[in-house]
Amino acid sequence: MKIIDTHVHLGKSKFSGVETSEEDILDSMVLYNIHSCLVMPQPTLDAIPSVHEEIFKLTQKYPNQIFGMASVDPWVSDDEYNNQITVCLKEYGFKAIKLHPMGHNISPLSPLCNKIYEAARQFRVPVLVHTGIGNPFSLPALVMEPAKRYPDVTFVLCHAGFAVYTDEAIVAAKLCENIILEPSWCPTYTVSKMIEAAGIERIIMGSDHISNVPVELAKFHSLKLSDTQLEQIFHHNPRTLFRL
Ligand SMILES: [Zn+2]
Repeated sequence: MKIIDTHVHLGKSKFSGVETSEEDILDSMVLYNIHSCLVMPQPTLDAIPSVHEEIFKLTQKYPNQIFGMASVDPWVSDDEYNNQITVCLKEYGFKAIKLHPMGHNISPLSPLCNKIYEAARQFRVPVLVHTGIGNPFSLPALVMEPAKRYPDVTFVLCHAGFAVYTDEAIVAAKLCENIILEPSWCPTYTVSKMIEAAGIERIIMGSDHISNVPVELAKFHSLKLSDTQLEQIFHHNPRTLFRL
């Protein structure tokens, strides 16, 4: 089974202090039999364009194994945002855009975030939104408003509410067809609830931290899903969503 990890970071997080290198990512892929990773910068104090460039180099070094995702601060000017996003999506061929309401210190409802959704529409890529920790901006329900305004854009609720707000993530998925759930850090029984509520075709796997890769894999394996269902979550859903 060609497992795709949809949530991997390169670099150092300003929140957790955790640092992940190229070697860490590649080693874990071998160890846990991960075929492909979607890699983005951390919410970080490092210069984001240089992290994007590093990720681009990885995508060239490991084609079809490493894919990039852009995480540009929506507080920069519209021109600067669009310049950076265009480099990432057009020149580098990145597969998604990240909005980190905690890392970027912004509500998904802010008019400043419209340029994220517009870019996602223009480049036909999904928007990944961090949810759970870092409230009020990271509440899953806040994503419903842009999801309704941009019905042709797909939104991924990263961490699907981070355990505490998981029911709210489920409500968001139930009310918006264009919302996908990625349940890293959520308890196993809530993952079953998500599958039941949203349908298995709207669930993807992400690890967030290298040390969390085996944990997230084990969670899905504990749910008594068939091999076909596991392959759908681990491979087919992300492949379709990110157009890999
Ligand atoms: Zn993350």
